Amino acid sequence: MKVAFFSTKSYDKEYFDRVNSNGHHQFTYFDAALNPATAALAKGHTAICLFVNDKADKETIEQLSANKIKLIALRCAGFNNVDLEAAAKKNIKVVRVPAYSPEAVAEHAVALILTLNRKTHKAYNRIREGNFSLEKLIGYNLHGKTVGVIGTGKIGQAFCRIMLGFGCKILAYDKFPSEEMEKAGVLYQQLNEVLSQSDIISLHCPLLPETHHLINKKAFEKMKKGVMLINTSRGAVIDTADAIEALKNEQLGYFGIDVYEQEEKLFFRDLSEEIIADDMISRLISFPNVLITSHQGFLTKEALEQIAMVTLENISDFEKDKNLQNEIRYQ
Ligand code: NAD
Repeated sequence: MKVAFFSTKSYDKEYFDRVNSNGHHQFTYFDAALNPATAALAKGHTAICLFVNDKADKETIEQLSANKIKLIALRCAGFNNVDLEAAAKKNIKVVRVPAYSPEAVAEHAVALILTLNRKTHKAYNRIREGNFSLEKLIGYNLHGKTVGVIGTGKIGQAFCRIMLGFGCKILAYDKFPSEEMEKAGVLYQQLNEVLSQSDIISLHCPLLPETHHLINKKAFEKMKKGVMLINTSRGAVIDTADAIEALKNEQLGYFGIDVYEQEEKLFFRDLSEEIIADDMISRLISFPNVLITSHQGFLTKEALEQIAMVTLENISDFEKDKNLQNEIRYQ
């Protein structure tokens, strides 16, 4: 099948070419992100393959349909960037990779916690400049701290297991508590309890209308002063303007994010020689207690292998008219 890839990076090409080494499918790799202006690139293909910041909105889907696209294969788990209703109306199927290595993202959340807390990024830079001072590098023990987890699906559970290993008390909020997690020692509570009792809060819920700006001014006011907030889920789960206010009034003591509300204009690109027009990211970067990574939680060899394998299976199943196990249907 002819598949057009959008937002292609070198690692996508490497891992997808490897799983398609028999050349069964024909892949065209485009650097451009999908949007109404680039949708025409898909012409001549049957499927398109998208990542998190490609936008398959109604207008784009209409263009894809006019160009005879039949399948949208997401090479990610989240699908908030696809208008499922518009796709269903045009009879375009949508498939995704529901789980590819929850540990990859969970471990990255832990990396953000450890770096922010023990300030290894600052120590690394100091030592390179011959500064061996320990001033302002004091952290705290994770052992015995209370960690709040919002969303205990695959990634949230992997995260809970790691933090239990550190000797933390885990409070969680999820509409569907996991019995396995309860047995492991996770205490499920109401959202307000989790927000008010935790020293560290980590977000692992999807971006849905009900979770959009779940963490806003009111939520920050409920948290402990100096709380650490980690977000590896989706940027818009947090109201960024409110997070900046909470940092300024020191309610938020540490902020570690792998995702950002307006990330599609920034992330995955080298903008080191450009003027950054986004004032909110510039303000966030200016805080000494903020750590930002550009959506790299998924970026491990194991996850990339799994993403490529499952995406290829999804495409092959569609080609063979098989049942699509990983289809996302409009409800
Ligand atoms: P999952 O579907 O296994 O788990 C999501 C959990 O969130 C479920 O248990 C669900 O019940 C819960 N949930 C839904 N609505 C909620 C709400 N209002 N409040 C609290 N919990 C709620 O998903 P997952 O594989 O664990 O992934 C979680 C999210 O992580 C994805 O949706 C995606 O946005 C993000 N993600 C980020 C990266 C990255 O590279 N940073 C990679 C993969 C996924």
